[in-house]
Amino acid sequence: MKFHIPIRFKLMTTLIVVIALVVGMITYAMATLFHSDKTTYIYDLTSIIARHVVEEAHAVHIGYKERLLLFSRIILDPNLPQSDKGTLLSKLFEDIGEFVSVTLYEDGDEQIAIYDAKSLERAQLLKSDVIAYRQNNPIPFDEIKNQSIYVVNSTITRELPSMTIAVAIKGDGIPENTIVAAMVRLDSMLDIVSRSDAYDAFIIGSDGMVLAHNDIVRVVENREIDWIPPDAMKKVGAINANTSPIITLEYTTLEGVDVVAGFAQSKTDYLTAGVHIPRTAAYLTTRELLVNLTWVALLLLIFAAMLGFFWAQRITRPIERLSEATKLVGTGNFDVEIDVESNDEIGDLAGSFRHMALGLHDRDAELKTAQYALVQAEKLAAFGKLGAGIAHEVKNPLTGILGYTHLSLRKVDKETNLYKNLKIIEKETKRCKLIIDNLLKFSRQEEFHKEATDINEVINDTIDIVNHQLTINQVALNRELAHELPLVYADANQIQQVLMNFCINAQQALDGTPGEVKISTRQLDDETIEIRVCDTGPGIPPEIQQKIFEPFFTTKPTGEGTGLGLSVTFGIVRDHQGDISIVNNVTKGVCFIVTLPTMSSKKLPRSSKRNNSTTEL
Ligand code: ADP
Repeated sequence: MKFHIPIRFKLMTTLIVVIALVVGMITYAMATLFHSDKTTYIYDLTSIIARHVVEEAHAVHIGYKERLLLFSRIILDPNLPQSDKGTLLSKLFEDIGEFVSVTLYEDGDEQIAIYDAKSLERAQLLKSDVIAYRQNNPIPFDEIKNQSIYVVNSTITRELPSMTIAVAIKGDGIPENTIVAAMVRLDSMLDIVSRSDAYDAFIIGSDGMVLAHNDIVRVVENREIDWIPPDAMKKVGAINANTSPIITLEYTTLEGVDVVAGFAQSKTDYLTAGVHIPRTAAYLTTRELLVNLTWVALLLLIFAAMLGFFWAQRITRPIERLSEATKLVGTGNFDVEIDVESNDEIGDLAGSFRHMALGLHDRDAELKTAQYALVQAEKLAAFGKLGAGIAHEVKNPLTGILGYTHLSLRKVDKETNLYKNLKIIEKETKRCKLIIDNLLKFSRQEEFHKEATDINEVINDTIDIVNHQLTINQVALNRELAHELPLVYADANQIQQVLMNFCINAQQALDGTPGEVKISTRQLDDETIEIRVCDTGPGIPPEIQQKIFEPFFTTKPTGEGTGLGLSVTFGIVRDHQGDISIVNNVTKGVCFIVTLPTMSSKKLPRSSKRNNSTTEL
C-alpha cells in the first residue's frame, strides 16, 4: 500500500529537521564553549581564593611570630629588672588581645609561662587546664626549624577556639634550642575563612588537622579533615609550598556534595588553605544558559514549523489548483480558470498550462468544425450519389417525353396553338435534359479521368448548371471566351467543380445585391491558357486573403460554408499542373485567375501526353 504524503508535510518536516539540527549544533557548541570557559574560570577562582586565604593567614602568623620574638626578647633580657619585665609583658598582652598564654622552652623544658588572666576568665579556664593541655599535647620541638612556624589547633573549650603557634629563637646570649610558643585565639583565622557565603574556605594546620573552618564545630572539636575523600586528600598532601603550592580538584565530598576545590600552601608555616565551591553554584549560569538556549531553540522550532507550514501552503496550494485544473482539462473542459499568480517556476507552469488549455480549446473548436465540415461533405457526397440516381430516373421519362413530343409535332399543323405549345414542351424538355446531363457529368465521380478537354465547352456546361441559381439571386453570369482555345489535358468534371465553386462563392459574396460574374478565357502562350472568374462583389478583406485556400477556413455562418471549396479548388488546379492566383479589389470585387498547361506544354508529365494522344486518336 502506497501512502500519499503531501509535499507540504515533506517540506515542513525537512525545514524543521534542518533547523533542529542547526539549532541543536549551535546550542551544543555554545554550551560546551561556555562550560569549558566557565570551568577554567572556576578553577582559576578557587585557586586564587585558596592562595589569598593562605597568604592572609600566613601574614597574620608572621605578625604573631614578630610579637613572640618580642615577648622572648623581653623575657630573656638579663638587663631588664623583673618588675619592668612584668609591666612590659602585661602591656604586650593588652596590645595584642588574641594571645592567651606565652611559654618559653629550652631544650624541650618549659622555662617560663605567662597567661592572660582576662582571656582565661572569659573562657572559664584555669591555668591548670592550659598546663594539662600542654602536657597532653606536647610540641614536636624537633620539627620547628630555623625559620618555620609551627601552627596547630589547640582548642581546649568551645568558648575559646585557639591555636598554638611556636617559633625557634636565635640570637646572642640566647641558649640553643630555645622555642617560644603561644596559645592564640583563632578569631583572625576564623574571620579569614568566613568572608564569603559563595564558597567554603578552611585552613589545615601543620599537623594536618582543621585549624579554621566556616563550621565552628569542626574547629572546636579539633577534628580531622573528614569531608575530603582519601584520594583527593592524597593529592592535597602532595602539595609542596616551594615547588607546586596550588592545585585544583573536582570531587564529591564525603558529605555528598559535588565541588570544585582549590588548595594552596604557604611557606614557613606550611598551612594549607582549601576552598570549596559547590558545582551547582559554580555552573549555575551554565545551566541557566542551557535552559535559556533550549527555550530559544524550542521557540525557533515552533517559528520554523509555522514558517514551514506557511511556505509549504504557498508552494503547494497552486500545485493543487493546477492538479485540479488538469483533471478538468482531462474531462474535456478547456475553459478552466487557473487562479495562480506567482513570480516563480510555478507561475511559469501555470502560464504554460493556461497556454496549453487555450491551445487545446482552439484545437477542440477546430476539430469540431472539421468534424462538422466532414459531416457536411459526407452529406454532399451522399446527395451527389442520390442526385445521380434521381437524374438517371428522370432522364429516361424525359427522353420519352421528348420522343412523343417529336412524334406529335410531326402530326400537328404548324400554325396551331397546340404546335406552339408542343414546341415549348420540346424546348423546356431539352433544357431539362441538358441540366440532367450536366448533373450526371458532375456526379459521375467514379468515371472521372483526364482527357483532351475544351475548356470553353466545360465553361458552357457549368454556366448551364449554375446560371439559374445566379439569376434568381440577381447575379448576371456572362462569358467572354477566346476562339480556338488550345485543348488542355484535364478532367472536365473537376474543372467544372472549380468553376462552380468560383461562381457560387461570388454569388454568396454578393449576398443578394445585384451584380455580375464574368468568366473569360484566353491563350497566354503556346503552353498556357488562362481562365478568369471575376465578380463585382465586396472583394476579400486583405487580412484573410492568405487564409482562404486553407481547408475549413470560412467566413460564412455555420451551415452555409464548409471552408472546403477553395482548398479543393486549389488541389484540383495543382493536380492539373496549373496555378491559381487572385486579383483582389476590396470595393470592386475579386478575380480568380487559373492558368492551365495546354496539351503541347512541357509541364505535363510524359505519360499524360501519351495518354492524351491516345485519347485524341
Ligand atoms: P466557403 O465557401 O465554404 O466559405 P471557400 O473555401 O469556398 O469556403 O471560401 C473560403 C472563404 O473565402 C469564404 O468564406 C469567403 O470569405 C472567401 N471568398 C471566396 N470567394 C470569394 C469571393 N468571390 N468574394 C469574396 N470572398 C470570397
